Amino acid sequence: MTVKILVVEDEEALQQLLDYNLTREGFEVTVVGDGAEVMDIVTENEPDFILLDWMLPHVSGIELCRQIRNNTATRHIPIIMLTARGEEEDRVRGLDKGADDYITKPFSISELVARIKAVLRRVNPAIVGTVVKFADITLDRETMRVKRGERNVALGPTEFKLLDVLIQRPGRVFSREQLLDRVWGQDVYVENRTVDVHVGRLRKALNKRGEVDPIRTVRASGYALDETYG
Ligand code: CA
Repeated sequence: MTVKILVVEDEEALQQLLDYNLTREGFEVTVVGDGAEVMDIVTENEPDFILLDWMLPHVSGIELCRQIRNNTATRHIPIIMLTARGEEEDRVRGLDKGADDYITKPFSISELVARIKAVLRRVNPAIVGTVVKFADITLDRETMRVKRGERNVALGPTEFKLLDVLIQRPGRVFSREQLLDRVWGQDVYVENRTVDVHVGRLRKALNKRGEVDPIRTVRASGYALDETYG
């Protein structure tokens, strides 16, 4: 599963280092250097995780942290703040404003990655776990198998990815564009209708024995895994 990370950092050398290493770790990385652009990018790009530098041009990391936490569309996104050595007071303020963790510069990439995964496991285990469960649905990312109750559900790779996206945030409505982006990738041109076709196949496979349909169609918006189900 691809985890989308937004790196907010204005130092070019550090931008490159983080971009290179986090991409190599399998994350999908977006980098932004100007504090003033961050909220727009967070809203549009919907990252799963934000690495947020403290000292930024125009808007500080701490102010951004506050804004992200105060916005209902973004408040769930985990944040690790990057601080300079010795700014003990800043760290306390950062955690106070809603950061999930902080890391002091300079840091090793392996430590950073371990901390990111630890926060993700704590805040959103459905994103990093090998086996994800929702109601009677079990999805195993290692074996790429899905079960409904005890029954094995045979899914194609696209349907598997679709379910994998939906199961990460039960109840959240994903638009067709958001599903296209997360399942097919940003660079691929696929028509919106294709999403409907694959959701149809996913439903058919999941509900083969006449089970309750766990997928909710939200008219003119998109699809969600029904959080009230199960
Ligand atoms: Ca900085």
